Amino acid sequence: MKITIVGTGYVGLVTGTCFAETGNNVTCVDIDPEKVRKLSSGQITIYEPGLEKLFSRNLKDGRLDFTTDLASGVIDSAVIFMALPTPPGEDGSADLSYVLGVAENLGKIISDYKVIIDKSTVPVGTSARVREMIAKNARCEFDVVSNPEFLREGVAVEDFMKPDRVVIGTHSERARKVMSTLFAPFVRQGNPILFMDEQSAELTKYAANSFLATKISFMNEIAILCEKLGADVDMVRRGVGSDDRIGKRFLFPGIGYGGSCFPKDVQALSRSAHAAGYDFAILNAVMKVNQGQKLYLIPKIKAFFKNNLSGKKFALWGLAFKPNTDDVREAPALYMIHALLHEGAMIQAFDPEAMANTQIMLKDKISFATDQYECLKEADALIIATEWNEFRTPDFSRISTLMKQKVIFDGRNLFDLQIIRDLGFHYESIGRKPIHLPKT
Ligand code: NAD
Repeated sequence: MKITIVGTGYVGLVTGTCFAETGNNVTCVDIDPEKVRKLSSGQITIYEPGLEKLFSRNLKDGRLDFTTDLASGVIDSAVIFMALPTPPGEDGSADLSYVLGVAENLGKIISDYKVIIDKSTVPVGTSARVREMIAKNARCEFDVVSNPEFLREGVAVEDFMKPDRVVIGTHSERARKVMSTLFAPFVRQGNPILFMDEQSAELTKYAANSFLATKISFMNEIAILCEKLGADVDMVRRGVGSDDRIGKRFLFPGIGYGGSCFPKDVQALSRSAHAAGYDFAILNAVMKVNQGQKLYLIPKIKAFFKNNLSGKKFALWGLAFKPNTDDVREAPALYMIHALLHEGAMIQAFDPEAMANTQIMLKDKISFATDQYECLKEADALIIATEWNEFRTPDFSRISTLMKQKVIFDGRNLFDLQIIRDLGFHYESIGRKPIHLPKT
């Protein structure tokens, strides 16, 4: 099939590459000429495990190309995906201007039947608005389909190639056939393609992300309670997660959720509910808890340094909002950085993939190290903000010699308390008893 993807970011590039990998001819359109130039010349623009290999192969084999020109990009495609940004608007509801703007242009361009698919995360009713926008100018038949994307950054290729489910919202039998053919290679193991009405498809995406965010905020509150009552959240997590009805995943406490999806999607669903005359009380609490959680370590850090962080040097491990991505959008690390800088502290950070993106945002407000150990030189404390695998079993004796003092604030509960105690570190984490520096 000939497919066009409009919007070549995290979702668009993974979608386009994976469709090319299953034998389709894919054109990716983006308004960013620099992105298109890089991609066309074989330079990948995001870090996503496994993507580069597929991208290079399909580019070389001629199944993948890139353009800034929407009209030439869609001319002979049967299927057009929109993977466009839907950032929060001023009141927190999803800003649909990218999606509706492209829909309006598509109406002017298309001249034969197309299936136009919305992959962006959008509020209920958007497919209908997209249909109206296209219909204003269209001189041919077309169908609009809702196909929300559930891939997770860091495992996006795997998620796209073997999805738990594919959700497709459409009332058109013609579009349903096209979508079934397109997704058949991805569900060969029997995972379902769930066909439904477009409103339900649109809501499914928000409901899924909001439920996961709720699980995280719930566990973060349990962790706070553990500290207050002298329990250990690791034990509680294991006890709770062993119940099949609850499950083991998404129960790890930490310094809050971030990224380009959970924060905006929870907020957008809350706004949708509000607009429909309903106060979605749980979601409002989820957002409030997460807001506090991103800065949860700051009072602990301040208390340790007797409320004076001026001139203190912090090593920061991890900038990305989660491991295996270079994405720093809404990353808890950034919130901590701003709070620490505000107190006059100095920060030297290391992240395996996300330093370039952070530098674009923070310029020279912090310094960047070439590896996780260089980052520790002369540091008054180490702060851990992202659970990259390489941080899990570090060389503690090297850490001890590099730092000014053996102090760790761990926002991701990476280390075993007994090991840390035996090594003589001061160690504070989330929902577990603090370990104090041994008296000298
Ligand atoms: P992104 O910001 O990484 O990419 C969007 C791309 O669209 C950018 O490259 C931008 O230049 C391009 N663009 C903007 N306006 C355009 C236009 N008029 N024509 C062509 N290109 C245009 O965004 P993303 O993370 O890929 O997210 C896209 C959508 O998918 C959002 O609605 C998001 O909520 C949803 N989503 C994201 C993820 C994720 O993990 N990132 C997962 C599932 C769903």
